[in-house]
Amino acid sequence: MAAKKAKVKAKSKAKPQATSRSASTSRPAARGQGSERDLLARLKNGAVICAEGYVFELERRGYLQAGAFVPEVLFDHPEVVEQLHLDFVHAGSDVTQALTYYVHREKLRVIGREKDLVPMNRAALGIARSVARRTGTLFAGDLCNTNIYDPADKSAIKEVARIFDEQVGWAVEAGVDYFVAETLGWAGEALMALEAIRRHSKVPVVVTFAMHQEELTRDGLTPAEACQRLEAAGADVVGLNCHRGPATMLPLLRQIRAAVKCHVAGLPVPYRTVPTQPSFMSLTDPCCGDRRAFPVGLDPFVCTRAEIADFGREAFALGIRYLGVCCGAGPHHIRALAESLGRHPPASRYSADMSKHAFFGTDKQIRKIQTDYRDKA
Ligand SMILES: [Zn+2]
Repeated sequence: MAAKKAKVKAKSKAKPQATSRSASTSRPAARGQGSERDLLARLKNGAVICAEGYVFELERRGYLQAGAFVPEVLFDHPEVVEQLHLDFVHAGSDVTQALTYYVHREKLRVIGREKDLVPMNRAALGIARSVARRTGTLFAGDLCNTNIYDPADKSAIKEVARIFDEQVGWAVEAGVDYFVAETLGWAGEALMALEAIRRHSKVPVVVTFAMHQEELTRDGLTPAEACQRLEAAGADVVGLNCHRGPATMLPLLRQIRAAVKCHVAGLPVPYRTVPTQPSFMSLTDPCCGDRRAFPVGLDPFVCTRAEIADFGREAFALGIRYLGVCCGAGPHHIRALAESLGRHPPASRYSADMSKHAFFGTDKQIRKIQTDYRDKA
């Protein structure tokens, strides 16, 4: 049923987005026969919303272990992954991104499951493709940080190239509409990801860096410089995802927007990061002896829907068109983002309406005995 709901025709209020969801609601166009599966055509017409951060949501739901953050759930409960994709589409995501984040050789080696590399990638791609084709959303392949990149280590570089090449290969086989290379801390590693994609495919490429506390990539470039390099190397969309909340990501997005000509992506984590603790890994919770809140104690810092909506409006006004929310995002955040851009995704059917509330309602049928008690509620 959820898949059906996700197909419900979206009503778009704001002009810039008029074509995105409404164009993607019925039968998806065959490859090359329209703009529905063309990321760049969609971006030309308005914002594209991409829900990311699946691993955090799956962890919260009790299907993924924090720490290694490997989505073994792809084998254990594929139906949960499928439902999460559907939930995000229902909430307004224009994209179904394959959950191949951390399904690469290095991470599987760390948890002792390297033998499952191929079937786990294929499982992630198969689930995402099925949801994308059923819902008319874009089907994105995904590459991410390898955690072994070291510019001074030739054998590590060789292994990074292998990791990217093989994951690109499986995604190309699955027929992705475009690629995302994300959560990258090194410009050098990002370039390698882009090169691997370009070796095997001509589809559009989104490359996003994840900035830690320093406003520099780990190889010493400002995010704007790093994005310029990726644009020059052929990336279609450049920007930032993860690690930083809206407050500490927006200033960097502004710099990137001014530095490049191509489309820009902004997918913050939904946490209240501040200049002194600009990344979600650096947040400490004063209630608990100032311990590091990452990754499972971040709840007190979660952004409200209004804060995510503010981010959406502000980023779009800056000219950031590829928008989403990363680790920590739930479907309610994606709906808030979509609505901030004038969308009316299927989940908006259930957006808050306090007029019928037992105490705060304004409906004629709400009894005076209740509304008079409002201040004591
Ligand atoms: Zn993330």
